[in-house]
Formats: sequence, structure tokens, C-alpha cells
Amino acid sequence: MKSLLLEQKQSQLSASIQEISSSLLPVGEVTVDIHWSTLNYKDALAITGTGKIIRQFPMIPGIDFSGIVHSTEDPRFHIGQHVLLTGWGVGENHWGGLAEQARVSGDWLTPLPAGLDSRQAMIIGTAGFTAMLCVMALEEGGILPENGDVIVTGASGGVGSTAVALLSQLGYSIVAVSGRQENHEYLLSLGAKKVLPRDEFNRSPRPLEKQLWAGAIDTVGDNVLATILAQTHYSGTVAACGLAGGVNLPTTVMPFILRNIRLQGVDSVTVPSTKRPAVWQRLQKLLPASFYQQATTEITLDQTIEYANKLIANQVTGRTLVRVR
Ligand code: NDP
Repeated sequence: MKSLLLEQKQSQLSASIQEISSSLLPVGEVTVDIHWSTLNYKDALAITGTGKIIRQFPMIPGIDFSGIVHSTEDPRFHIGQHVLLTGWGVGENHWGGLAEQARVSGDWLTPLPAGLDSRQAMIIGTAGFTAMLCVMALEEGGILPENGDVIVTGASGGVGSTAVALLSQLGYSIVAVSGRQENHEYLLSLGAKKVLPRDEFNRSPRPLEKQLWAGAIDTVGDNVLATILAQTHYSGTVAACGLAGGVNLPTTVMPFILRNIRLQGVDSVTVPSTKRPAVWQRLQKLLPASFYQQATTEITLDQTIEYANKLIANQVTGRTLVRVR
């Protein structure tokens, strides 16, 4: 099978496209013929070695995939069934989606939801799944469209752009934050009413600033998240899922103790399998047909190393879909 293999040679990371035997696939109950995978920020960190994502080598990266069951020892699945997978450490500590086949635990697979094809499922991928979880975190925080503007950071990335599209379908008024002037039109077309430059947020904020946001979805962290916390309305909710700008959070307790703000962390990796189908059904219902054209760059397995470098250099907009076969 054709795969993207990460190896460690004299403590240097090496990434290459190789033909390897599928008999080398790790233990698992279900073998899947992969049709589509994607490049997420975490994949790019792993493939370029920018982040310490992978600790066991050799490894096939790819934190998500969709495809067809090739063989199964798990009675919940049948040969020929369409399935998808996001998270569970696949592509990090278990061989992942950037290969023609994967062998995984049946517990990690989600049947493809009705109304979505395999390609659309991976245009959504981990990023879209995470965006939906962030929107649901705002809903759980009681943030309604009539409460005021919702701000989305890292808006031209995979999570950010899908969050803008989802919030727009739900009737929220969205302000997008982007470091790239050239993407402003794109973000307006997804449903943002306004785009603000990242520089306005990438600074040391005062503990409390003018209240501007009913809610927020943050994919960036660090000063950008700190500034948003200082500007969130009384009883607002901020869903934080990412670290594209850094792992720190230079804030104070003031927004929490004086403005009753909720900071909700969002993790997509170990969401229980029982909760996942409902999240996918909402994605299927909410995302308009236009989203799948607007937000996608399609590449082949051979181009994944080149695009991982582009993603880290912030030269990719929206989702990067990998056609595996
Ligand atoms: P992308 O690379 O597609 O998007 C990230 C966006 O962040 C970029 O498009 C850019 O948007 C902005 N950005 C990039 N570099 C910087 C920087 N140095 N400072 C500030 N902003 C920056 O990544 P994803 O959308 O796939 O992921 C976004 C984040 O969410 C990542 O940190 C990822 O690890 C995390 N994540 C977390 C998950 C979870 O389960 N918690 C699941 C999926 C992702 P623009 O140019 O518009 O400013």
C-alpha cells in the first residue's frame, strides 16, 4: 500500500512516500480501504517535525480518514460499509490516514452519516468536527444569536472557516479575525459580517476592556485569546480549541470573577463514540452545498509533504483534502 511514512534517522525526522506491505499494519479489528484523508494543523506539525506529536517511529500520520471497510472482526461493521474516523490518537500513536489502508479498533469508527459522501466527510474532517463541538459549547453556554456578535479567530484555517460557516447557518452575527488581508472576501462569503486584522488582538490586553463579544471560538491561544477574554460580554462563553499562535494564556482572573465569563475547553480526540453520530448529523444538516466548494484545496498523497510545510507557513486557506486512491 502507498503511504506517507515518518521515520527517525540519526534523531532526524524523515518523511517520504513509500510502498509498504499492508501486513505491517498495527493490530485492530477493522481494516479500512482509505479513499480520503485531510491535512490538519496537527498533521502538519507531525510531518514537518515542528511539533512533538509523534513519539514512536516508524509512523503513518493522518488524524482522520474516510473509506470502505475491507475486512472486519467487529460484528458492528460489514465489508463494503462506508466509515470515517477522527481522533483517538490515530496518526499520532497508531498508524493513520495518510495511506491506502488503516487497521483500527471498531470503537474508533463512525458509520458515514446519511446525506454525506466520503469526500464531504473529509472536507469537514477533524477541523469541522471540532468547529461543530465549539459551536455546541457556545450553545451549552446559553449564547443565542440575539445576544450579540460572536468572534472567530484563525478564521481562514480549517476549524475557523468551518465555524464561520456553521455559525452563519445558525443565524449568528460573526466577526472573523484573520492575519491575512487577502482572505477577507473569502470570510465574508462564508458568512462573516466583518473581518478584523489579527494585529488588533495580538497584544497585551488590559485586564478588562470594552465588552464586545457575546461569545467566541478561539483557535489561536496566547495574547489573541487573552484579548478576547478581556472583551467578552458579561456571562459570555469562549470556546478554546487551538494553539496556532502559542500555548500560553497571559490573562488575569478579572474577566471570570467580574464578568462571569465561561472559558470552555474543547477536545475532539476522545469525544465518546456515542456522542459522535449526533455531531456529524448536525454538520450534515447545517453546512450548505457551497461550503464544500468554497473551502477546499484537493491534493494527492504525493503532495502532502509540500502542503504540510505550506500549512505551517500559514499559506493554506480552509481545508486541505487528500485524495488517497
Ligand atoms: P489551520 O492551520 O488550518 O488554521 C490555523 C489558522 O490560525 C490559520 O489559518 C491562521 O488564520 C491562524 N494562524 C496561523 N498561524 C498563526 C499565528 N502564528 N498566530 C496567530 N494565528 C495564526 O489549522 P486548523 O484549523 O486545523 O487548527 C487550528 C488550531 O486548532 C490548531 O492549533 C489545532 O492544533 C487546533 N485543533 C484542536 C483540536 C482539538 O481537538 N482541540 C482539533 C483540531 C484542531 P488567519 O490567517 O486567518 O489568521
